[in-house]
Amino acid sequence: MKLPTFEDIWQDSLQWQPTQEQLEKWEILYQELLLVNRQINLTRITEPEDFWEKHLWDSLAGVIGLDFINYENSLKVIDIGTGAGFPGLPIGIIFSHWKLTLLDSTQKKIKVINLFLEALKLNNSQTVIGRAEDIGHLPQHRETYDLGLLRAVAEPSVCAEYVLPFLKLGGIGILYRGNWQKEEELNLNNALQQLGGKIILVKPFQTPLTKSVRHFIYVKKITKIADKFPRAVGIPKQHPL
Ligand code: SAM
Repeated sequence: MKLPTFEDIWQDSLQWQPTQEQLEKWEILYQELLLVNRQINLTRITEPEDFWEKHLWDSLAGVIGLDFINYENSLKVIDIGTGAGFPGLPIGIIFSHWKLTLLDSTQKKIKVINLFLEALKLNNSQTVIGRAEDIGHLPQHRETYDLGLLRAVAEPSVCAEYVLPFLKLGGIGILYRGNWQKEEELNLNNALQQLGGKIILVKPFQTPLTKSVRHFIYVKKITKIADKFPRAVGIPKQHPL
């Protein structure tokens, strides 16, 4: 993959520069993704610019430059509904001292991520196959994460019900959204009242190449969550809070 002036764009848009080693790992990830995509239809994002902007830049933009994240700490992070490994994998490559869990309900996708992890020699990451509604009740995962990431998984209030059970008190859920409507915020606030969370920041962003509008919604866990959440498999989507 050719990286024309991408480094400059990183610097301009995120005030941050990846190292040579990180760039090389992203290149490996891209090549592996293309390879797998020839056999199974994993993603439509295959052109270098698309991959760079929609997978790398977008994944990173959600976690970079936040004054409420202590980047030096060895944070525990879960990517819920990770699909082919986004936004989790690019983040795991950059923050190699963080502990990353990539969760998806589709076995096929997790198998592919395991191949990526091997190719990347990324030993800070584990994969889990299952539904957020089930895994969020397991003691080894419940209330143990500092950060929870969700991109393109469900509507915001459903994402909140998925992520808050995984978070420690004070942990942050990051919802990757396109447009952000007032109505979505009202629904999310309503769900958060029941789940013990609070929106602490809504950050609008424009992507550097195609100038698409993105929003990152940061939700903090304020109080302990009731044992009944998340509700049984399928219920959060069928009957959002
Ligand atoms: N986050 C990735 C991205 O942005 O490229 C993948 C998005 S894909 C549209 C949604 C993914 O969420 C699918 O891989 C699906 O299997 C997974 N998913 C949906 N509901 C889930 C749930 N309740 N628990 C775990 N994974 C779920």
